[in-house]
Amino acid sequence: MKIELCPNCGSDSYIKSGIVNNRQRFKCKKCNYFFSVNKIGKKIDAYYVNKSLQLYLEGLTYREIERILGVSHVSIMNWVKKYNIKRPYNSDYHPTYKILNASELGDYFQKPENIKGAGVIVTELGDKFMLIKWERFKE
Ligand SMILES: [Zn+2]
Repeated sequence: MKIELCPNCGSDSYIKSGIVNNRQRFKCKKCNYFFSVNKIGKKIDAYYVNKSLQLYLEGLTYREIERILGVSHVSIMNWVKKYNIKRPYNSDYHPTYKILNASELGDYFQKPENIKGAGVIVTELGDKFMLIKWERFKE
């Protein structure tokens, strides 16, 4: 079985380090974290990788993504590097975002002033929704 990334720091550099409870144990070469195969929920892992990279492309900083998703910023940096994700350009521009539940989201879209003159992206975030707003035409 191939493990892709250290669950602690996201590095893909690790070595086998004995068998514990019939499970292969690994040691991360970067952060010295010990982990075994079953510790990694592959599905959840892929979800967080995708979400992190999505938010990264939306212009959020590593620290913001860490705060929102609870994924270490070191992991996110490693994923960005691993998948060779590049933002189209760097600018001082920064999007704003809100975390809303389904009914708050409905209320938000009821008000034309909230969506006028702005690009809005909605992405699922656990049991809530994240709304990312690009206010291109405002200062
Ligand atoms: Zn590690």
